[in-house]
Amino acid sequence: MFQFKLVLLGDSSVGKSSIVHRFVKDSFDDFRESTIGAAFLSQTIKIRDTSSDSTEDTVIKFEIWDTAGQERYKSLAPMYYRNANAALVVYDITQQDSLSKAQNWVNELKNKVGDEDLIICLLGNKLDLCDSSDNGDKRAVMTDEAKVYAEEQDLLFYEVSAKTGQGVKDVFQSIGEKLYQIK
Ligand code: GDP
Repeated sequence: MFQFKLVLLGDSSVGKSSIVHRFVKDSFDDFRESTIGAAFLSQTIKIRDTSSDSTEDTVIKFEIWDTAGQERYKSLAPMYYRNANAALVVYDITQQDSLSKAQNWVNELKNKVGDEDLIICLLGNKLDLCDSSDNGDKRAVMTDEAKVYAEEQDLLFYEVSAKTGQGVKDVFQSIGEKLYQIK
């Protein structure tokens, strides 16, 4: 079994814990308590090894570190991202400011960890609040703005909803496949 370490970074309230819970427990809680410091969860996924003739799935285990977004915990983050294999940098699609915070994290990762050692994935969360006719459109960050930035910086990029689950599994699946390819 292959094991990879993931870390979630981003401003507080963008939905980091909710994304992890959606992925690990397939549930969503409107009143989740704030993460203090960091929280650890693990989950396995199966991937198909297309490079060999084997029809067996390969099992990958993720060790996921969900960090607290509050400013006072910022100094703890390097402990979690230093030996991570992938970082999920999350912003809230309905909060423009949270994208600049995410960009600060990307800069910090690139300065401190270096590109080759880490897969970075930019994740826009709360997609359920956008483009929906029932609730009105609360979108503040255009898809193209984030997408162009992610392409320039060579990041994976997805828009997801922890609330409905839209896109969440795909993110972890493609990170797993990418990590397995370069392992
Ligand atoms: P964290 O501080 O980044 O870990 O964010 P949380 O996971 O604690 O979520 C912050 C708030 O946003 C909570 O009230 C969540 O219920 C809410 N939230 C998280 N993800 C979503 C989502 O995909 N859609 C909506 N509508 N709300 C979300």
